[in-house]
Amino acid sequence: VCHRISTKGVDDVCKLLKIFKTPNAPLNFSRIKRLFLRNSSPTLSSSISFICSACCDASTSSNHCNNINCSQHASYQSPPLQYFKLSILQQLREILACEQDSNFEHQKQPSLNSDLLNDIYDGDKYQHIIKNEIDIRFLTLVMNADGVQVSKDASLSLWIITLAINEIKRSERFKLKNIIIGGIVPCPSKPTRDHMRNVFAPIIQELLTLERGETFEVKSLNENPFICLKTYLIACCADKPA
Ligand SMILES: [Zn+2]
Ligand SMILES: [Zn+2]
Repeated sequence: VCHRISTKGVDDVCKLLKIFKTPNAPLNFSRIKRLFLRNSSPTLSSSISFICSACCDASTSSNHCNNINCSQHASYQSPPLQYFKLSILQQLREILACEQDSNFEHQKQPSLNSDLLNDIYDGDKYQHIIKNEIDIRFLTLVMNADGVQVSKDASLSLWIITLAINEIKRSERFKLKNIIIGGIVPCPSKPTRDHMRNVFAPIIQELLTLERGETFEVKSLNENPFICLKTYLIACCADKPA
């Protein structure tokens, strides 16, 4: 099962990208960030790492590649790509604390009619979690990587890694305010497999931590909003740059 950010959402992203002509400037990124996350706290944690264009390794230094065997180890001869990673946990917290339309009802029991796929809840992976987490509420995410072409000559594209929360009602799920932005990465138009692995690595790392469970304030659970929830990534989809 693969859900995509709504067309409207992509349109909004594209509009923003047009406004900020240089996508790899941190200053612009913080502006994008603020627009995306209007209600977010000013301390949204994000980190920048640099992806070597020669070996595709991610480094924290903007001067040289960490890989001792790389031609760019002494210093970057060709500029690295900047990778902006945003805190998934923090955005999850902010969305769940505001969103009225979350829905955990379908987690009470496995769905009886598994031939009928009404929503992601009826999918195999979802049903598998329900069977393992009896009477326990949980969160599931669908990750999507969308490439947006930003330079006229098609040499550079911007990958936006987003995550949708399935426990938000479908009508609200893909609205920009409820979409988590995991990372924004400028990429050469034809990223290599190694490159993509480096792009996803820090996000996967955070997702593994979230699987162990975190305490959230969930607005829709009015009576007792504080709850410990494990978060599972159940689907992932990457689309080629448009
Ligand atoms: Zn390198
Ligand atoms: Zn898709």
